[in-house]
Amino acid sequence: MTAHFPFDNSYATLPERFFTRQAPVPVADPRLIAVNTALANRLGLTLPKHEEAMSRLFAGNEVPDGATPLAQVYAGHQFGGWSPQLGDGRAVMLGEVVAPDGARFDIQLKGAGQTPYSRMGDGRAWLGPVLREYIISEAMAALGIPTTRALAAVETGEVVLREGRMPGAIFTRVASSHIRVGTFQFFAARQDIDALQALLDHTIARHYPEADSPFGLLDAVIGAQAKLIAEWMGVGFIHGVMNTDNMTLSGETIDYGPCAFMDVYHPEMVFSSIDQFGRYAYANQPQIGAWNLAQLATALLPLMPDREAAIESFTEAVNGFAGRFDTEWHRVLRGKLGLATEEDGDAALAFDLLNRMAQGGADFTQTFRALSSDTPGDAGKVFAAPAAFDPWMEDYRARLAREPRPADERVAAMQATNPALVPRNHRVEEAIQAAVAGDYAPFHRLNAALADPFTDRSEIEDLQRAPTEGERVKQTFCGT
Ligand code: AMP
Ligand code: MG
Repeated sequence: MTAHFPFDNSYATLPERFFTRQAPVPVADPRLIAVNTALANRLGLTLPKHEEAMSRLFAGNEVPDGATPLAQVYAGHQFGGWSPQLGDGRAVMLGEVVAPDGARFDIQLKGAGQTPYSRMGDGRAWLGPVLREYIISEAMAALGIPTTRALAAVETGEVVLREGRMPGAIFTRVASSHIRVGTFQFFAARQDIDALQALLDHTIARHYPEADSPFGLLDAVIGAQAKLIAEWMGVGFIHGVMNTDNMTLSGETIDYGPCAFMDVYHPEMVFSSIDQFGRYAYANQPQIGAWNLAQLATALLPLMPDREAAIESFTEAVNGFAGRFDTEWHRVLRGKLGLATEEDGDAALAFDLLNRMAQGGADFTQTFRALSSDTPGDAGKVFAAPAAFDPWMEDYRARLAREPRPADERVAAMQATNPALVPRNHRVEEAIQAAVAGDYAPFHRLNAALADPFTDRSEIEDLQRAPTEGERVKQTFCGT
């Protein structure tokens, strides 16, 4: 059986200045690491039967019929500094498939060779970031948080030069689109109004068909990002590199580079080796979201006939992000505390817990999971300094006493909200190191466990444990 992808490539019909047509550069000796057959089925793909053919397919050595491979151009603010031209420097989009339910998805090979946007880069990826993105993006999907997905990973049989000689790999990413804030910025910076209009129409048709103007799009994206960032924070996720080229219009999480799930909670937590000033720290994420959305608003302005009036309404919309984020964040926090009703003091109660967790050195995932039980007071055991927890527990009990929902229903709801398992950094690193040494068992085991993040079971106990001081990963690195 040969591969069949139900392609319908709408991005490739946009003007030629949106991309460069670029075939993946074949690799020496492709070997399949993993293929996500559940996702392939959801997309309506027919995959080749034989592993060798599958390896060639996901390495880009064989391009499926109907593909129109291209590298997208975009720009972006990286750590606040303007880069007028970025683009897919190591990625090639094969095309878009329309799934049986009518949903449209990009299929992209990351690490597929040089493109005109590679600058000094080799266009390749090494195994580490490929496995990292595979594990974490699929974990995010299992947690129910909007994200790009992992369809496949292959080894290339080639060496990639990074810190040392690393095994090369290619990651197949699925996204509802790869349109970024930086895509709009690219055309706005060039005052290319026709392209901007075409991009607007394309994005609205694809993601927000109910929007009927640049303002409508801006408003919809603000809503999607407010919700996304609140959901990240609800699972202790730090994206790590929230540059405008790494923020989608769709509201999906994209570009898993130096990201991480926190172990011990601290609002100023940063993992990324390149984030020296904590710009993208855990608690800064909403502010950065608003900053990025202000850049999107600016990029949409050239489409507005009455610039002065547009500046006013766009500014108001961007300023509205903070309130919309708070609404989402408070909803997430109420869910984490198992509160079915709303009271004024709920957010304050949650923030008080978070402050105490920071002071008491409490593991984020374990604290909320321990609260999700018939004996929530056991959460105190998660604290290095339990004295920080006990007074809060009294307030929480008093609040729970005013909840009409029966305790068993609350516990069930909390266990479906507060994960038992997240991809902890030391486990991700362990899986990568084993794979580099030729052993993929930890990678496969971690993926399988993370597919069911809301159920406690004895087989995953070691994966649930927080790292010891010696195991703790203090820094994460970009994919480059
Ligand atoms: P990222 O930090 O992954 O968002 O990448 C930032 C920019 O650098 C994007 O335009 C990438 O396509 C490009 N880039 C990253 N790594 C490479 C590489 N190995 N070769 C070529 N371009 C790259
Ligand atoms: Mg990027």
